[in-house]
Amino acid sequence: MTSTKAYAAQSATSPLAPFSLERRDPTASDVQIEILFCGVCHSDLHTARNEWNGTTYPCVPGHEIVGRVTNVGSAVKNFKAGDVAAVGCMVDSDRTCPNCRAGLEQFCDSRATFTYNGFDKHTGGVTYGGYSKAIVVDEAFVLRISDKLNPAATAPLLCAGITTYSPMHHWKVSKGQKVGIVGLGGLGHMGVKFANAFGAEVVLFTTSPGKTEDAKRLGAHEVVLSKDEEAMQKHANSFDFILDTVSAKHPLASYLQLLNRDGTMCMVGASPDPLPLEVFNLIGRRRQLVGSLIGGIAETQEMLDFCAEHNITSDIEMIRVDEINEAYERMLSSDVKYRFVIDMASLN
Ligand code: NAP
Ligand code: ZN
Repeated sequence: MTSTKAYAAQSATSPLAPFSLERRDPTASDVQIEILFCGVCHSDLHTARNEWNGTTYPCVPGHEIVGRVTNVGSAVKNFKAGDVAAVGCMVDSDRTCPNCRAGLEQFCDSRATFTYNGFDKHTGGVTYGGYSKAIVVDEAFVLRISDKLNPAATAPLLCAGITTYSPMHHWKVSKGQKVGIVGLGGLGHMGVKFANAFGAEVVLFTTSPGKTEDAKRLGAHEVVLSKDEEAMQKHANSFDFILDTVSAKHPLASYLQLLNRDGTMCMVGASPDPLPLEVFNLIGRRRQLVGSLIGGIAETQEMLDFCAEHNITSDIEMIRVDEINEAYERMLSSDVKYRFVIDMASLN
């Protein structure tokens, strides 16, 4: 075991603070990684504050991890000390159930082992995430990143990237389609970039008037302030696909009405509060309301390779680890452009 510095929440109401945890020695199939950068996802905040219930404390969040390999187990084939490597939202799954065999480990029938707040079969305790100096992960859940991409700006791809890429891929967003992205935060700004890269006509819906110019620079063809009812109505019945990344309670009806016949609205934003649904918004035009959870390991690698090929990374603001509590407050007030990334060299 190796004692490792980290940042943890000790309860739902306490700020994150320095914490020391133990990482296992690498087993034959493990990769040991020194963490260089970790993105800050709104799920980290939901979990640290127990907004979804079920958080075990101390809680060390972080599932957008990029680092350098420091050691590998004897059976590891694809990584060696010195390589740059990445870890996302999962560190294990049963690998035998139909969902795992289909490359959809996030839906593992035995429940995937999430990178933090998951059951750690090695310790019998809880998994600790990337707000820490090092992590040990089975090779099957370690990703490769291209040395063409900036490693800090690549970290958010491991959650914000795959969570927006996967549903657009699954529901076949393509050239000629009209696609809406709701919310310009960490997920939303990646959604805009991917929808644009897939050739769609991209409309960004935001509550923040100050984000209009940025949204256009990121790849939106049009920006609509969601509180402007007239501007919303102009888009009625016109969308093929809408990706909703909003982290809090908000009206679904305003967006469902914008879908064309057979159009699909996909929820990735995970509001802790239920969202009321008026079924006539679905019935009227045979519209579909669906959801999506991150993406499987193979698809995450495919997304990272796509990003290398198309030079796509996240727009980030680098912070020190001791700025994490302030970053959470700024995230809550939609003041993040567009992902905080912790420089783990600041954890000493
Ligand atoms: P984020 O950076 O905080 O972005 C959320 C954005 O939603 C904000 O920037 C804001 O955009 C908009 N928003 C926030 N509160 C709102 C409100 N009350 N009404 C309307 N719009 C509001 O968060 P994130 O990291 O992108 O995560 C977004 C959500 O996705 C979180 O709930 C997170 O837990 C979830 N998530 C889900 C998955 C999955 O697999 N399904 C994976 C990762 C994260 P504007 O300023 O543009 O309005
Ligand atoms: Zn996340």
